[in-house]
Amino acid sequence: MEDQAWHQLGEEQLLKVLGSDRDGGLTREKAEERLQTEGPNELAEKRGESPLKLLLNQFKDFMVLVLLGATVISGLLGEMLDALTIVAIILINGLLGFYQEYRAERSLRALKELSAPSAKVLRHGESLQIPARELVAGDIVFLESGDRVPADLRFLQCNELSVDESALTGESVPVVKTAGRLEAQDLPLGDRRNCGYLGTMVTRGTGKGIVTVTGMKTEMGKIADLIQKTEEADTPLQHRLEQLGKILIVVALALTVVVVLAGILHGQPIYEMFLAGVSLAVAAIPEGLPAIVTIALALGVQRMIKRRAIVRKLPSVETLGCASVICSDKTGTLTQNKMTVTQLWLAGRSIEVTGEGYEPVGVLKEGGKGIDARGDAALRRLMQIAALCNNSELTQQEKADDEKKRKPAKGEPAAANASEWTIKGDPTEAALLVAAAKTGLVKSTLQSLYTREKEYPFDAERKRMSVLVSHQGGKLICTKGAPDVLVGQCAYVLWDNQVVPFTATLRQKVLSANESMAKASLRVLGMAYRDVKAHEACERGEQAENGLIFVGLAGMMDPPRKEVKEAIYKCRQAGIKTVMITGDHGTTAEAIAKTLGIMGREGRAVTGTELTAMSDEELDKIAEEVQVYARVSPEHKLRIVQALQRRGHVVAMTGDGVNDAPAVKAADIGIAMGITGTDVTKEASSLVLSDDNFSSIVAAVEEGRGIYENIRKFIRYLLASNVGEIMTMFLAMMAGFPLPLVPIQILWVNLVTDGLPAMALGVDQAESDLMQHKPRSAKENIFARRLGWKIVSRGILIGICTLGAFVIALKAGAGHPQQLVHAQTVAFATLVMAQLIHVFDCRSSRSIFHRRLLENKFLVFAVLSSLLLMLAVLYVEPLQPVFKTVPLDLRDWALILVAAGIPTFAMGIGSVLGSSRRRNGGRKISYGGNSASAKLVRTR
Ligand code: ATP
Repeated sequence: MEDQAWHQLGEEQLLKVLGSDRDGGLTREKAEERLQTEGPNELAEKRGESPLKLLLNQFKDFMVLVLLGATVISGLLGEMLDALTIVAIILINGLLGFYQEYRAERSLRALKELSAPSAKVLRHGESLQIPARELVAGDIVFLESGDRVPADLRFLQCNELSVDESALTGESVPVVKTAGRLEAQDLPLGDRRNCGYLGTMVTRGTGKGIVTVTGMKTEMGKIADLIQKTEEADTPLQHRLEQLGKILIVVALALTVVVVLAGILHGQPIYEMFLAGVSLAVAAIPEGLPAIVTIALALGVQRMIKRRAIVRKLPSVETLGCASVICSDKTGTLTQNKMTVTQLWLAGRSIEVTGEGYEPVGVLKEGGKGIDARGDAALRRLMQIAALCNNSELTQQEKADDEKKRKPAKGEPAAANASEWTIKGDPTEAALLVAAAKTGLVKSTLQSLYTREKEYPFDAERKRMSVLVSHQGGKLICTKGAPDVLVGQCAYVLWDNQVVPFTATLRQKVLSANESMAKASLRVLGMAYRDVKAHEACERGEQAENGLIFVGLAGMMDPPRKEVKEAIYKCRQAGIKTVMITGDHGTTAEAIAKTLGIMGREGRAVTGTELTAMSDEELDKIAEEVQVYARVSPEHKLRIVQALQRRGHVVAMTGDGVNDAPAVKAADIGIAMGITGTDVTKEASSLVLSDDNFSSIVAAVEEGRGIYENIRKFIRYLLASNVGEIMTMFLAMMAGFPLPLVPIQILWVNLVTDGLPAMALGVDQAESDLMQHKPRSAKENIFARRLGWKIVSRGILIGICTLGAFVIALKAGAGHPQQLVHAQTVAFATLVMAQLIHVFDCRSSRSIFHRRLLENKFLVFAVLSSLLLMLAVLYVEPLQPVFKTVPLDLRDWALILVAAGIPTFAMGIGSVLGSSRRRNGGRKISYGGNSASAKLVRTR
């Protein structure tokens, strides 16, 4: 079937060959059967690393290989027990690393699946939204502006449909599509105007097509190998840490060499020093760092999913924490997108519409008195346009069983019927359908009288939509759209049931009615129509939407989302400015911005027209002060992003329509709407909101900040531990002491402390003031805010204290046959304990006293298991010769706990004293970006 010249077939033939039906699509059974035989509609993906390869990679590290070599030598020299233990430790370490990486990779793959595309199809007579991978040949799919073409298809119907095929043909100008058959036989892909191809993007209009081939049989499938080259980029932080890792390897190796040489100079046996040196190098190199960073990122991303934000590009997790401005759409993001028409306006008459939600029950009142719409020609005309120029559907569905059984609350009327009204399509249009139904006009009845011939689709640029309908031998254009735009297209107005010229005075009356409805936070749409002359050309919207007769206005309520006000307050505390960017009218936008607290009394709003008149320099000057941009076109969004970026902001920007994609792409964090967003915008975005809700952006920012802080926490812990280990050995060798730790102990410390506790820090709870600080700079060094100092100071102290305990134990045991082994055991226990105490310190940017000790259950579990493992090594008799330990008594433990506690507690007390002194001396403050509603924001 795949070798057909699809473009040459007529519609009947197409449907026959593909076994489909024009009005019903494929049957459910046929679709299922085809899915079984043809396979899913997806491009074969290159497989990731196999688990076995991932496991083997763990042992590829140069130092690990040296250690293995050294171990084999020591095994040959007769130290069999030593050798086996070291091999076992290396294996466990490798398994741990494997587990970390495997988990990281799996989480990343799960994320990819979440953002899989979907398609709108007609099956079994029903229009459905299904995952694009389930499409089969013969499926009839619907496309609209912003959709990604989900398979190769032949168009059956096109309404001003343009498709960007650059991904396939390299041609950057969108191709206008047509539905009829084409004669020519060997047409190149780019000229097959009646065909659509998988992976290309609809930039304009709407259309219907029948799937011809799917998956690897598509044109995209044929070149799939070429397009699979896109690499998963590391995040900037991962990249920087990789470089840091390289530096750390060099430093660790250099210090190890010094330790080994110093030991040999002071008379330590060469062989023993060599093994100790290699073990130290293995321990000191933070090989687990990249995997733990990935895990922290991936787990954080999963937490974000629970909070309804899906990360598409991992680097944006870091950028989220730096966001200083969030530019948000209004409709659906800040508001509920649950529209209800509450007011109509017709030639000076104001009509109230009662009723709530989508249930078409309500009455119309004029001057407080009910009116009968049946005898009101102008009102009927208004509602006719509203219902005909409309792609939404209103359906009545059975209520879920538990909803039916629910007892009505006090004061609530008992459920009159067991069904509820739901909508398909755009809520703005659905609200108009509901209002029309309240006047007795039902869309399906109207459609049987008025046949739709053509649609001039809505887009955010034109801010209007029209249809051409035929009725009793005549033709009619019905248009609805933003009133201020629509009046420009009208030459007449329906006033007191007469069509009269649209004079400046009448125009002004319409506009001031629009203004006063907008002041009441209503979203207002205007309706207009005209008769079409017999041979008039109405191919394009510009030709059709001219000389219209203005009929009236419909004002609809779209309540703000309840949780948004709180989220905006949170942003202000976090030094993040919120900006509303909307296609809606300025007055409506301002009214809602004020309700939500985006705009204060002296805030500033700018309209799209003003923006167009402004130069970039002028925009830069005012960008900081503006909280609302209204009646903007999508291309304005790009200018706003760029202006804010020039002012040094890290900008998060939402978008849904196809034309929003450039701005979403240019923003530091491009955010697409999961429900209303188009595929094009989703693909340009780094974050998708599964509930389209502004609060989810704030939740994602919060997680972004938390993840970054957690990464800092375990970097701090791992590096301070490593500095501690190196310092212990370094200082001992410099001072000419015997080895304070034997190689196996060093490896053991590394295994027990680097593994679970570090991972547990990666999922630590955020500090309570996480959202009360200004956003960090995107250029901030990971060691900023004194992290470097903390690592070095704690690390050195851990080294000194461990060595101190070793020396004291050594002196105290003078003359005892087990003197050295006992002192080494004390040093070993001190080092482990110091790290296990220090890990709690790492949870706080201030000190151990500033966090609840048992809050992080994973950490408590990790520390307890590390503690048990250490006690096992000390007290389980068969393990003692392996790890060269002796059991310790209470006096030893007193010494160990004091020495191990000093690094954390001494510094903690110092920090508490320091901060109380700072408090007395006054707090450093700065102001957030939002000048109109400036709030105190603490600097760190
Ligand atoms: P936001 O950008 O905040 O989501 P919005 O939904 O109001 O706001 P657009 O969808 O770009 O922005 O709509 C701009 C204007 O176009 C609206 O204010 C309205 O007047 C008009 N409009 C919206 N939807 C339709 C539609 N389906 N048909 C005709 N006109 C519409």
